Amino acid sequence: MKPVIALVGRPNVGKSTLFNRLTKTRDAIVADFAGLTRDRHYGNGKQGKHEYIVIDTGGFEPDASSGIYKEMAKQTRQAVAEADVVVFVVDARGGVSAQDYDIGKYLRKLGKPCLVIANKAEGMKDGAQLSEFFELGLGEVFPVSAAHGQGIRSLVDMALALL
Ligand code: GDP
Ligand code: MG
Repeated sequence: MKPVIALVGRPNVGKSTLFNRLTKTRDAIVADFAGLTRDRHYGNGKQGKHEYIVIDTGGFEPDASSGIYKEMAKQTRQAVAEADVVVFVVDARGGVSAQDYDIGKYLRKLGKPCLVIANKAEGMKDGAQLSEFFELGLGEVFPVSAAHGQGIRSLVDMALALL
């Protein structure tokens, strides 16, 4: 069985961009689940000899009828339940938000292997700006740039090392 890596985080932090990097494809398999109003996206990835599956908890749209937060929480729970490792994506430039705290709290309780990734970190001089993410209580925070392809290999190495 290939290990399953779930990408979770609030909207707009770069999960889908990271998904495309990790899967090296834009042809994500779109899986429809009865009863869900949003799809989850699955893709295959490979680094060296190691193959893995990535789940992007994408497709969240502001939706007045159900509420984006409600939908996000549901998607996040389902992806996380299927995952061997959770990659929690935060925005290196945006700082810690209330949603980040909520997701962090949920992941801490869950107790699955979890890696916190600060995306959009290209051009950031040092890790000082990332220190506030320690407040999430999930340990070290690793800078990456999904858009520029920086830190992606180490991300995969670290995620697989948590298995
Ligand atoms: P998602 O909602 O978490 O799936 O986020 P997306 O992957 O759709 O990205 C949201 C926005 O952030 C888009 O405009 C991306 O181009 C941008 N973005 C994603 N990764 C990076 C990055 O590494 N650096 C910067 N500067 N922007 C990024
Ligand atoms: Mg997305």
